[in-house]
Amino acid sequence: MPKGKILLVLYEGGKHAEEQEKLLGCIENELGIRKFVEEQGYELITTTDKDPEPDSTVDRELKDAEIVITTPFFPAYISRNRIAKAPNLKLCVTAGVGSDHVDLEAANERKITVTEVTGSNVVSVAEHVMATILVLIRNYNGGHQQAINGEWDIAGVAKNEYDLEDKVVSTVGAGRIGYRVLERLVAFNPKKLLYYDYQELPAEAISRLNEASKLFNGRGDIVQRVEKLEDMVSQSDVVTINCPLHEDSKGLFNRELISHMKDGAYLVNTARGAICVAEDVAEAVRSGKLAGYGGDVWDKQPAPKDHPWRSMDNKDRVGNAMTVHISGTSLDAQKRYAQGVKNILNSYLSKKYDYRPQDVIVQNGLYATKAYGQK
Ligand code: NAD
Repeated sequence: MPKGKILLVLYEGGKHAEEQEKLLGCIENELGIRKFVEEQGYELITTTDKDPEPDSTVDRELKDAEIVITTPFFPAYISRNRIAKAPNLKLCVTAGVGSDHVDLEAANERKITVTEVTGSNVVSVAEHVMATILVLIRNYNGGHQQAINGEWDIAGVAKNEYDLEDKVVSTVGAGRIGYRVLERLVAFNPKKLLYYDYQELPAEAISRLNEASKLFNGRGDIVQRVEKLEDMVSQSDVVTINCPLHEDSKGLFNRELISHMKDGAYLVNTARGAICVAEDVAEAVRSGKLAGYGGDVWDKQPAPKDHPWRSMDNKDRVGNAMTVHISGTSLDAQKRYAQGVKNILNSYLSKKYDYRPQDVIVQNGLYATKAYGQK
């Protein structure tokens, strides 16, 4: 008789799992935790069948599970209803970063601990943000389409192509990812780097960026905090979103906020899809208000085939730099979050509960982090 049940929800690897053994984050490789879990006397149930609620394998198996492990890339939404039907549930683990797929308020009411592997993919995402900004601003997609279509219309691409140098770039959220994006941006010699966050960056963090910027322009004064989001977006050529999804950030980028953005600005969102109102963004891209939108996160995942972000584009068909949710699941990131999940399980199963403090999102009915809103 197992001591308890651990439910693991991951995406399918299929033939890719056979080809690439480093794909730890798929159902076939189970984050490499099966042997460890079974040695602890626990049962491990792994599934991809998470929707629709309440008729999926997740609904059936969660009812008597003690721990659920899910990933933001293919999230099983641990809703209030699902929590209510899972009386034994004690621990939710996010294999990655961002635990908004768990109803954190409901978890708090039940004193369920929610943890994630903080930092595990922050470099991966920051690199994806840079790639997306460059794809959009350099009109890479326009040039690439011509290359593979056998065309050679330079003007047709160049009319939508700019340099990142000397532009104003801003981030909503300057935590682990937002700060790494700022670090990487310095090397492109922007005019200004702005950030909006209710937590102020430490003075040393700002002076590191300013010092580094001297290498490129000798000025050393590029970083500024902006108190009002509208003021920040109205001065920015590129805005990147790097904050968690919570009640204050849900739907933040709607028609109203976008109306404050510069005409022809770019918006990049690798944080969470629901921070933007999907139809408002699509309309802004179609109308040319935004020159482009890109990112990898969607308000529902997997995104439906008719999601407006799949087909939205401007008149030159170069305003869409969307990918599926891949930025935080590079093979390097998978290795880190698989190990992090194992460490969290070890802390729980050994009854030491000695989690890394930065991994704990909610515990004992309280928020352990300041990142999910000013509570
Ligand atoms: P973090 O906790 O280090 O930083 C988040 C920052 O956002 C904090 O400084 C917080 O104060 C700030 N913030 C919160 N709400 C805000 C708001 N409304 N406006 C402005 N700032 C706000 O987290 P992180 O590691 O940088 O990750 C940030 C988010 O990125 C995660 O919560 C997750 O949703 C997303 N993420 C996506 C992927 C991916 O694969 N696409 C991977 C990792 C993380």
